[in-house]
This record gives sequence, C-alpha cells and structure tokens, in this order.
Amino acid sequence: MIPKYRIRCVGGNELVTDITRLSCPDGHDSLLRTEYRERRLRLAPFSGMYRYLAWLPVERPMLPAGGPVTFTHEGLSKELGLSRLSISFSGYFPEYGANLVTGSFKELEASPTMQRLEELGGKIPVIASAGNTGRAFAGISARCKKPVVIVVPEQALSRLWTVEPSRDVFLVAVRGDYTDAIALSSMLADVPGCVPEGGAKNIARRDGMGTVMLDAAVKTDRMPDHYFQAVGSGTGAIAAWEAALRLRADGRYGIILPKLHCAQNEPFTPIVSAWHVHRRTIIPDTDMPDPVNKVRNVMADVLTNRNPPYGIAGGLFDALKDTNGLMYSVTNAEGRSAMKMIHDVVGIDLDPAAAIATAALIRAIEAGTAKPSDTILLNLTGGGYERIREDFTLFPVEPVLTVRPDERGDELFVTLREWTKRYG
Ligand SMILES: *Cc1c(COP(=O)(O)O)cnc(C)c1O
Repeated sequence: MIPKYRIRCVGGNELVTDITRLSCPDGHDSLLRTEYRERRLRLAPFSGMYRYLAWLPVERPMLPAGGPVTFTHEGLSKELGLSRLSISFSGYFPEYGANLVTGSFKELEASPTMQRLEELGGKIPVIASAGNTGRAFAGISARCKKPVVIVVPEQALSRLWTVEPSRDVFLVAVRGDYTDAIALSSMLADVPGCVPEGGAKNIARRDGMGTVMLDAAVKTDRMPDHYFQAVGSGTGAIAAWEAALRLRADGRYGIILPKLHCAQNEPFTPIVSAWHVHRRTIIPDTDMPDPVNKVRNVMADVLTNRNPPYGIAGGLFDALKDTNGLMYSVTNAEGRSAMKMIHDVVGIDLDPAAAIATAALIRAIEAGTAKPSDTILLNLTGGGYERIREDFTLFPVEPVLTVRPDERGDELFVTLREWTKRYG
C-alpha cells in the first residue's frame, strides 16, 4: 500500500525514509517537508482542523478538535476600505464559530503533534515555550490525557492555564528567559521516552498551521492574493506558503501563490532587518543589537524569537523569496491602535501579536503594497481571552520544579525519569 505521506528534504530533494526525523540525515541545512499521496484536497467529515486530515501527517483525527475559522466582516472591510478581505481567526469567539480554547493558533500545532507522536509509538514531547505554545500543549494534553513536558521562563507561568484539569503535564519553570528555557528543554529531551518536539522542523506543527490557508481557500474557492501575519519564528508563514504550494498543485484554487506580508514588533525586528537587504543570514550584531533590552520593549513578546528558521532551506527566506513577500516593522503605538480598532469594530480582544498583523495590513493599504480590490487574508493568530474567562473556569498549570538557568543537578532529571515511567 502507498503510504499516506512521505517526507522529503527541501535542500537536497531526496526522500527521507525515517519519518520520525526532524532534520536531514544527509546533513543538508534544510527543513523536511511532507508530500501527501492525495494531490487533490479531499475534505474529511470532521469539524475543526481535521476536516483537512488528508493533508495532515496523522492517520486519525484527535477529536473533538477546534480549527481555524475564515469569515468576512462588513464593518471591518468598510473601516479599512477593502472589498475582498477575509479574516482567519484562531482563538476563541463562539459568535464567529471560533473555538480554540487555548486562545491561539499554537493549538493547531499541538493537536496533530500529539496525535502523531501517539501514532508513532507514544514518545513524550518536550517543548520550550514563552507562553502560547506551552498553553496550547497543556490544553491538548488535558483534553487527550497524554503526557507532555513543558519548559517556560518563570515570568510566563501566568499564561499557563487550561480549561480542564491537566494531570499529565510535567511543567518546569526556569528563572531566566526563553533562550534559557530552550537550552534546558533540549537537555530534558534526552531523557529516555522523551523526544524534542522540534519547533519549525516538526512537520505536524507546520502542516497543522497550514490549515489556516486551506480553510481560507476552501471557504472562498481560491487562494488569496495577499496573506498577512505577525511572525516570531516565521513557522506559521512557512506553513501558509507550503499549504499554498499544495493548493497550487491541486489546481482548483489558482496558480499564483499568495504574497506573504509578515510583521515584527519594533524594536525587536531581526527578520525585517535581514530581509530588507535580501540577506539569507541573520547577523545578530546588525539585525538585533542589544536583544535583551529590545525584547523587553515590545508589546507582543511571542514575536521575539532570536533564532528563527529563516535562512534554512525551505525556511522563511525562501518563502518570502518565492512569494515576492514583504516584511513590516510595526510600532507598539500602531499595534495598540489596531487592537482597539478590532475590539471596537469586530468585538474580539486580540492577542497583541494579532494586533501587530492588523497594523501591518493598515500600513500595506496606505503604502499601496496591497490594493483595496485585492483578495486579502488577515491571519488573526490569537485572542478571545476575555470570552474564555467568561465561559470557562481556568485551571493554572503548576510547575513540578522551578530551577536556575545554570542548574543541571540530578533532582530535575531523576524526577522527570520517575514521572515518565508512569507512561512507559
Ligand atoms: C507564536 C505566535 C505568533 C508567531 O508565530 P510564528 O510561527 O512563531 O512566527 C503569532 N501570533 C501568536 C498569537 C502566536 O502565539
């Protein structure tokens, strides 16, 4: 039987036979990409993101599941002077059919990732997060009752909550920043039974986020001319591009790839800085001098990834190049004003990152890089937290341990080893 999908190295174009791999066995600095048996997108009879099961690297859906929703909004279109604007919202707002109870599009990554690991033998994913990814994985773990290890900076603990008790989360808080959390998580992933989740290198993560583009294309019968999103790692934008490549090969949704319009939040804008001179590599001293201070001064800190998959083959540089894309540097003032406008006009309290994307769209219209009559997809990647609080009781996820960034002592590893045995 022909398998549902294969994976291929984008850099070297060779097939990779071990589908559990996160990187190329031949050593190419490249993402691996899924190639699905079905070239035409067949819709599955499930609600939420598993409607697109044909193009997700899992055999079965994890149900119940939420998904991205695509809708038009007359008031917003009028406010912005656009005639063919579609909004994709990944958050919680039942009035618009939006039901991601962890509040962001990170849930679209967490669900297929957990499902895939289960199908491939039940290894436990280890995730480093600045907040939204950790909450998404904790939420999915609580729902499907499968284990997950999450490492977050201590300041992010308040963002770690679920709408049902989470009994299978091993949460570690680090007295440091996101970079410290990443370093510790890669050590914890070596504990037997655990695996690194993989970030942008994880095909389930990217193909899950790609359902945003699939849903928009299916709802509107075509790919949009323009796609707007705020980026930290750029994984979501890479995913949108990959989904568009599949839709182009399908043939029914148009042949022109959507132009990627990606935004970062001033003053932390390394990708904007590198892309403006069309450089494939990010040079820290040039593109993000004094990062600690800059990270502290953005309104959307989920956009402050210091090591994005930008130059890697199949990464964000290639995605921008292939779609003739644009990068925007958005100020906090622009972000706040966009946030208020969406709250007033649409009623949704946006995640700050989604406000940055909205501000980029406003800029693009002013600059003429997107025309009022073009088809535009605005990816509002998170929000609805007020509505979640109204509709649910929130359960904080408690850390098993809080450690110093330099702490490599036995206690943490012994405790984790013991804990994994429950799931042996
Ligand atoms: C993580 C996140 C982003 C950025 O996504 P990347 O894939 O890292 O570029 C944007 N918006 C929200 C709400 C997020 O949580």
